[in-house]
Amino acid sequence: MSATGTAQAPDVQLLEPRDVPLGGQRAMTVRRTLPARQRSFVGAWCFADHYGPDDVAETGGMDVAPHPHTGLATVSWLFEGEIEHRDSAGVVACVRPGEMNLMTAGAGICHSEVSTAETTALHGVQLWVVLPEHAADAPRDFQHHRPSPTHPAGPEGGVELRVMVGELAGQSSPVTFPTPLLGAEVRLAPGTTWRAPVDPAYEHGVLLDVGSVTVEGVDVGRGALAVLDTGRDALTLVAGEGGARLMLLGGEPFTEEIVLWWNFVGRSHDEVVAFREAWQAEGDRFGAVEGYVGGEDTPQRIPAPELPGVRLKARGRLGRGF
Ligand code: MN
Repeated sequence: MSATGTAQAPDVQLLEPRDVPLGGQRAMTVRRTLPARQRSFVGAWCFADHYGPDDVAETGGMDVAPHPHTGLATVSWLFEGEIEHRDSAGVVACVRPGEMNLMTAGAGICHSEVSTAETTALHGVQLWVVLPEHAADAPRDFQHHRPSPTHPAGPEGGVELRVMVGELAGQSSPVTFPTPLLGAEVRLAPGTTWRAPVDPAYEHGVLLDVGSVTVEGVDVGRGALAVLDTGRDALTLVAGEGGARLMLLGGEPFTEEIVLWWNFVGRSHDEVVAFREAWQAEGDRFGAVEGYVGGEDTPQRIPAPELPGVRLKARGRLGRGF
């Protein structure tokens, strides 16, 4: 990846999305902002894909066969559509708009994600959060939360919040995570200015879904991620004429180095190689998904890709080429 498409304001790092085809039988393409060459994490958020609205009649929808994860938690947040999640902890759950689903992989999990037959449009974000080393081997877990929207600027104030994890402007989520974290959907009515009160110990990212918005005066394009460092007690968000819907992510800077390869987070090349071998060998580390029914040509489990011919490098907070 080259450094093109990256604008740098003094206080705001703007990460432009790149289109990534998800592969497999379906034609779904996502817009990815994390990890970026110049930045690996916002807080412990390490992966950000934004997609849709996709016409399922055209793309075929989502059909991701069982695949493994380690060392991270996944967050699925939808704006439109419905996805059936199945995992090797035995959880079967429907992911719906406005509902937080956080799956902790810990030492190893596998899961499938399939959009339901009723889904005509798919639109959402898929996010990963790194588990700190002390919690990287945690047991498999799944947390669900449907936040009630609040209006921190008053009923006519033009701000509507749904907090997935953490606390923002008086709304807090019961979802737990081993490092301090914030994730919220923010809707701004046309022309609204909101000074969002934030924790100065956190760094933040603003991912624009629809509409238009500036953050500290910097225009965030659709699907882009504007990143702000620690030391602020508020973020000034100004919506354009069409209003804005955005995801606000935050957390204390994540200072550990990790190796992120395919669906795995590990601490070293050798650890990731062992994860890959365990998945290929269908060992106990990842368990099995029951009841996955995919498309005719979809495999029952996604094989790991080949490793590159060089040792995988660790990456830190501010990124390293990949
Ligand atoms: Mn996954």
